[in-house]
Amino acid sequence: MKLHTGIGFDTHRLVEGRRLVLGGVEIPHTLGLLGHSDADVLAHAIMDALLGAIAAGDIGHLFPDSDPAYEGADSLALLRRVAALVRERGWRIENIDATVMAERPKLAPHIDAMRARLAEAAGIPVEDVSVKATTMEKMGHLGREEGIGAMAVATVVQ
Ligand code: MG
Repeated sequence: MKLHTGIGFDTHRLVEGRRLVLGGVEIPHTLGLLGHSDADVLAHAIMDALLGAIAAGDIGHLFPDSDPAYEGADSLALLRRVAALVRERGWRIENIDATVMAERPKLAPHIDAMRARLAEAAGIPVEDVSVKATTMEKMGHLGREEGIGAMAVATVVQ
């Protein structure tokens, strides 16, 4: 059995007048994430982890933000495509683990909904998708609520 692990990391800026979408779940907040797509920073980190695991580049390469096709794109639809690519290349997603770095809002009430949506898009059981959240203890740009960050690892088996 061949086993690969990939890592993903992403940040997006928090601004007024945008929706806050994390793991495919719209979360009520005074600020939202700025980006070409829906700026779902968690889904983006997970996609890069999956692409890393199969050494297939990154989402910037796969879904360029210069392409109008991805303007306002639903990142879970993109995750579905990345998961399909993983399978096409002969791999099975074993698990995904991710951490969201956000000072506010409190994410705990939304974690299970994010796991369910991400698992459905990735085509794996919800038990194999972990989402955690942490604050930055008010330190640095994420701690000042200038943005939200996410990191993820994914393991795939052949
Ligand atoms: Mg991104």
